[in-house]
Amino acid sequence: MSQWNELKAQCLQCQKCPLHTTRHQVVFGVGRENADIMFIGEGPGEQEDLQGEPFVGAAGKLLDDMLSIIDVNRTNCYIANIVKCRPPMNRDPKDEEQDACIAYLQKQIELVNPSIIVCLGRIAAKRILDPDYRITKDHGKWLCRNGVWMTAIYHPSALLRDPNKRPETFDDLLSIRQKLRDVHAKL
Ligand code: SF4
Repeated sequence: MSQWNELKAQCLQCQKCPLHTTRHQVVFGVGRENADIMFIGEGPGEQEDLQGEPFVGAAGKLLDDMLSIIDVNRTNCYIANIVKCRPPMNRDPKDEEQDACIAYLQKQIELVNPSIIVCLGRIAAKRILDPDYRITKDHGKWLCRNGVWMTAIYHPSALLRDPNKRPETFDDLLSIRQKLRDVHAKL
C-alpha cells in the first residue's frame, strides 16, 4: 500500500479524539499529491462533513475564485485541514483535538513536499506558523522555514462575513501568485 493510501486508511477510521463521535465523514484532503502549493484550513464545516471534501459550499466557491486569481485550481494544489472531523456547531477545534489530529497533516505536508504553504485563517496560522499569530495584523507576511515559503490569509468564511477584508486579501493573493511564479522560475 502506498504511503498516501496507508495514511488515508488510518485517518478514515480514526477515533483518536471525541470529534469522531459526531462526524458523518472524515475529510482527509484533496488535490495533487505532489503539488507546489498547499492550502491549510482549520476543519470541516457542515457541508464538508456531509460531502467528505474540504471547502465546499459558499466558502469553497469563494476559495475556488481565490485560487483562480493565483492561476491555481483544485487539481494542481493540495487542500487539507488541521482537524479532519467537524467540530460540532462549527466551533473552533480545541487544542487537544488539534494535538490528536496534527500528525495526519504533518505527514500530508511531508508527502506533498510543497514549496509554498498558505494557511487559511487564524486557527491554521496559529498552529502552523506561530502560536502568537494575529491574522488581522500579520496576514500576507512571508516566512521561510526549511526552504518552504509560508504565509496566511483570511479564511474564505471570514471574507464572506466581512467583505471589507477582500481588498487586502486580493493583495495577499497577488503576492502568493508572484511567489509561485518565483518558485517555478527556479525549477
Ligand atoms: S479529528 Fe482527527 S484525531 Fe480526531 S477523530 Fe478525526 S481524524 Fe481522528
